[in-house]
Amino acid sequence: MLYRWYDANCRILPWRETRDPYCIWVSEIILQQTRVAQGLTYYMRFINRFPNLMSLAQAEESEVLLYWQGLGYYSRARNMHRAARQLVQTGGTMPADWAGLRQMPGVGDYTAGAIASFAYNMPYPALDGNVYRVLARLYDCDEVFDTSAGKRFFHTLAEQLLDRQHPRQFNSAIMELGALQCVPAQPDCDVCPVVSFCKAHQTGTEALLPVRKPRTALQDRFFTYTIYICDGQTLLYQRTKRDIWQHLWEFPLVESQGWNEQKWEGVNYKEYEHVLSHRRLHARFIIREVPSLDIELEKLKDSYPQLQKVRLDGFGEFAMSRLTERAIDEWLFTLIER
Ligand code: SF4
Repeated sequence: MLYRWYDANCRILPWRETRDPYCIWVSEIILQQTRVAQGLTYYMRFINRFPNLMSLAQAEESEVLLYWQGLGYYSRARNMHRAARQLVQTGGTMPADWAGLRQMPGVGDYTAGAIASFAYNMPYPALDGNVYRVLARLYDCDEVFDTSAGKRFFHTLAEQLLDRQHPRQFNSAIMELGALQCVPAQPDCDVCPVVSFCKAHQTGTEALLPVRKPRTALQDRFFTYTIYICDGQTLLYQRTKRDIWQHLWEFPLVESQGWNEQKWEGVNYKEYEHVLSHRRLHARFIIREVPSLDIELEKLKDSYPQLQKVRLDGFGEFAMSRLTERAIDEWLFTLIER
């Protein structure tokens, strides 16, 4: 029933049309925190530019980040690049077993299982958020799934359920069921191919499952960016600390514990709130038109790595966070065009 449903309903996606472990790896990393519709565009661009391990390994990290710009969670791109370089040094091919895949930087149990089953049809489960939800509902299981113990529990369950003759088909089908039918709110149980096996549907607990651990409070951070402007140019530096957005470019930033009572009349500024997985950023972008960027560069260069002058129409060459991109696209460019 499940396979028949999958054949009739699955979405046609390029990474499903290939057995190339490299392409499947790229798709899985992109889709970890990204919806399919958005991920598809990024995947096509990425694969066109970096069609194989060698092309990815030979690229500069700054270019890889540029192709990742807007997807967030940039450590994923950095890890992929690092993994590609390591693999090229040790033979130039993707590992063909689960343990080898699992050792690649940025590859966890889920991604190793996905590549092993989709590329090589090996009998490993692949548990993403969709699969956790389907399993929790099929077994009416209120085990918290996003803890180490919960993950082990569901992994064992998935191993027991796995169709070892057809792991590729099984993993694809159960993931797609979670993505299209057994959705978080209002699952479409009336036409579900596994409704007769579904314990949560029998007890009416679908909406309560799966159970996740309580969310931790978001950490507030306060960023003030200064956009120095002179003669159609500004200053950008590259973040180097082990923190969010490592290696991305942005305007000189001062972080504070909160907003002070400074008066803002006459200052050209714009505020944004930007939420990441564990943080809420309160960002203020201030424009300062200055007589000479060289003077500012000299004053600031010891505090900001790689600080350099950049043309206002040259941002496209620098990988930036979504927050900085927003400030540029939604605000700075509208001011410049006036
Ligand atoms: S019957 Fe409903 S809750 Fe159960 S697996 Fe199908 S869609 Fe999900």
